[in-house]
Amino acid sequence: MSETARLKTSIATVSLSGPLPDKLEAAALVGFDGVEIFEADLMTFDGTPQDVRGIAADLGIELVLFQPFRDFEGMPEPQRRANFDRAERKFDLMGALGITDLLVCSNVHPASLGEPARAAADLAEMAERAARRGLRVGYEALAWGRHVSRWRQAWEIVRAAGHPALGLVLDSFHTLAIGDDVADLPQLVPADKLFFVQLADAPRLTMDPLSWSRHFRNFPGQGGLDVAGFVRAVIAAGYRGPLSLEIFNDDFRAAPASLTARDGLRSLIFVQAEAGGPKLPPPPAFDGFEFIEFAVDDASAQHLTSFLGTLGFRHAGTHRSKSVQLWRQGRVNLVVNTEVDSAAAGHFHMHGPSVCAMALRVDDPARAIRRAEALLCPEWREPVGAGERHIPAVRAPDGTLIHFVGAEGDGGSIWQDDFVLLPPAPEEDDALLTIDHVAQALPPGRMDSFVLFYRAVLGLLAEPVFELADPYGLVRSRAMTSPDGSVRLPLNISESGKTATGRFVSAYAGAGVHHIAFACRDAARAVATARARAAPILPVPANYYDDLAARWSLDDAALAALRAADLLYDRDDAGAFRHAYTDPFEDRFFFELVERHGYRGFGAANAGVRMAVQAARREHRIRPNQ
Ligand code: MG
Ligand code: MG
Repeated sequence: MSETARLKTSIATVSLSGPLPDKLEAAALVGFDGVEIFEADLMTFDGTPQDVRGIAADLGIELVLFQPFRDFEGMPEPQRRANFDRAERKFDLMGALGITDLLVCSNVHPASLGEPARAAADLAEMAERAARRGLRVGYEALAWGRHVSRWRQAWEIVRAAGHPALGLVLDSFHTLAIGDDVADLPQLVPADKLFFVQLADAPRLTMDPLSWSRHFRNFPGQGGLDVAGFVRAVIAAGYRGPLSLEIFNDDFRAAPASLTARDGLRSLIFVQAEAGGPKLPPPPAFDGFEFIEFAVDDASAQHLTSFLGTLGFRHAGTHRSKSVQLWRQGRVNLVVNTEVDSAAAGHFHMHGPSVCAMALRVDDPARAIRRAEALLCPEWREPVGAGERHIPAVRAPDGTLIHFVGAEGDGGSIWQDDFVLLPPAPEEDDALLTIDHVAQALPPGRMDSFVLFYRAVLGLLAEPVFELADPYGLVRSRAMTSPDGSVRLPLNISESGKTATGRFVSAYAGAGVHHIAFACRDAARAVATARARAAPILPVPANYYDDLAARWSLDDAALAALRAADLLYDRDDAGAFRHAYTDPFEDRFFFELVERHGYRGFGAANAGVRMAVQAARREHRIRPNQ
């Protein structure tokens, strides 16, 4: 494939929520070239097929496929004859819609005969009838087809039928979900016989393919299937038709069509690049977090800065023209923004005291922006004062700004340009060194959207999903991390509104940062000094340490050190992890102090204890008389 060749993009209407005209509009506005019309969407549409054709024409979007035609091939009489009559009626409908390609999926009917020669003969006759009207028929193997469940079987039937108006439809889900591949596709199937290609990813789950397919498909890049490898083989086979997203997903059916459509097109741009198609600017190389910015008002700024003071942060500077303070410790920069008429103020009005922005150190901020824009994330620009540095940024799906900051030395650091800095304090006082991770809480159904954003736009890797037990429900957690580990963003989601994550999302009116973890050399010392400054370190129940002693062979001294500092402990094959939490700030976000020795996780084993203590303390505060 030459570097400039881009395959047409398409999405099946079943992938989007709402009535048919809204689906068409959402797909067209975000920039898809075409849509597949799913028959059920047409049946519930209050208008004629000609109306649909007119709407699509007005929107400038092509109707590329009509689907599905089920239980057709290899039926005994009288169903066989009835099926041809049914096909003629669908051809009438396609004529009215102006669609030339029909998708026939492999038969699941108990009465189907399962004789490949009969299936080939039936499909050849159907293709002949279609050809008389200038239409074509594509045959797709369903993973749960009664006799045909693999694309090579479907291809054998198409080949045997030998009709020019009959070709093969490939679907990445039906192929990859049953452990099949398309490695020999370029050798087996001529390009002119590849009529249509549908793409879907899916999380790796152990369940029957039908339920898996109907509820858990997602966009390429959101799941665990090698969709990019699939597309690579399809391109190598000479396919030049549309790449079309066909996603059955309960969350997508509930989300606004415009959001889903944007994610879908982003996934197609990403997967084509991964498959060797049109290139994207490479993702950034990261060097950790440059700053985290809080949106607060004057009252909560007072509370927040005194909270930060207990953790050892010092007021390090004040913005030259805005009501913005810098608080600093080690390499950690925290920006406290109370400027009215700013993006931060907008964020504060929406969400209350919150993290409104984070800045990541990258090798090339301009390239990071070019990649984001190629993936449908426009650059976000806030007005800057004279002499102030413009820091390029994009918006994450929740509206949080993600700034890209280059290495120092490319024109003075942002702090020297924009802030009046106070003389630095001696560094030996610093217990906290860097930002280890920034965890976010997401509303139910939004995990896939965030995973795609961080994976495609920032090039982060998606780690396995953990399920964490909150006293009031289950929290699912999945971390996105940069290849070098310097940027770690755990994402948490809860179906229950009563868990800490669920409560956060409702109190916050949406997704947002719910804790920030600071790395330290010695967590016990960091906790001791923070406690001495009256930091609200979360107490850990004694039972936790009894369990810990049983789980890991820790000596008495190590256990006593943990207990004395209210430290939690975990270990993986790479090393150990000691960490402590604070109470939340104004019942919102909280902080974590972590000491990592090669350990790669986030203390998921301890999340249950942390959430139970937080819940108990919250109830204690709510009902102080009990
Ligand atoms: Mg399909
Ligand atoms: Mg954490």
